[in-house]
Amino acid sequence: MTIIEPHIHMLSRTTDDYTAMYHAGIRCVVEPSFWQGASRRHAGTFYDYFALSLDFEPTRSVRYGIDHYSCISVNPKEADDLPLAMETLDGMDRWLDHPRCVCVGEIGFNRITPNEEQVFQRQLEMAKAHDLPVLVHTPHDTPETSKKDGVARILDILREFDYDPGRIVVDHNTEDTMPLTRKTDYWAGLTVYPYSKLNPRRVVDILRRWGLERVTVNSSADWGVSDPCSLPKTAEFMREQDFTDAQITRIMHDNPLAFYSQTPKFNPQLDLPYIDPATYQR
Ligand SMILES: [Zn+2]
Repeated sequence: MTIIEPHIHMLSRTTDDYTAMYHAGIRCVVEPSFWQGASRRHAGTFYDYFALSLDFEPTRSVRYGIDHYSCISVNPKEADDLPLAMETLDGMDRWLDHPRCVCVGEIGFNRITPNEEQVFQRQLEMAKAHDLPVLVHTPHDTPETSKKDGVARILDILREFDYDPGRIVVDHNTEDTMPLTRKTDYWAGLTVYPYSKLNPRRVVDILRRWGLERVTVNSSADWGVSDPCSLPKTAEFMREQDFTDAQITRIMHDNPLAFYSQTPKFNPQLDLPYIDPATYQR
């Protein structure tokens, strides 16, 4: 089984993670831009992060037989600092033009504020200008905001945005939001976590209910409790639940390949060799 992981934050993972991922069948990863644990104070800090993701991380992953691509954005959690977000976007074109930038994302909402909306809208326009797919982050349930309201608002904004819905994935869906997302032609992303959010059982139930068309499954794995091998584990669980090999391949390989292949920049090499760390030339 050759797995393409469509949403994972490898900058926060270790070399042991890369080794485990390779041995579990993962051959390509796509890394969306993300909050770094402390909010950035300078546009240059965003740019250095984009350089790490686009230039450095692929040189790290290739040693473990994994091809690495990125999605570039000012993420929703930092979009509320409007002056900094706008200053960063003023200089972001050259990162979107990078040969390993295959998507604008993640963008969307964190707390569903007017500032976040402005930054979201502007990045949608940038995706159009650069002819790139879009990865949309949907907010979590908090005491102040509901995920379902966030998804509804996002779908309203996307409806106004004149772009091929097949080039947009609305990510982090749950049982509650799938009825909204499936009323549209956008892709629906499902994120598997060991404890919170979805586990393989819930993903399988959602796939049974809503089908395999325009669905991607990802691990998102970041600094929180997460598992970079969530996808191979979900594939295994699908097999136990009598999904066919073709259905499992569709979710683990064909769908993410189809989504990102909407930019000609995405040409994953899925047969890279794993290089024994003992043989590295430093
Ligand atoms: Zn993410």
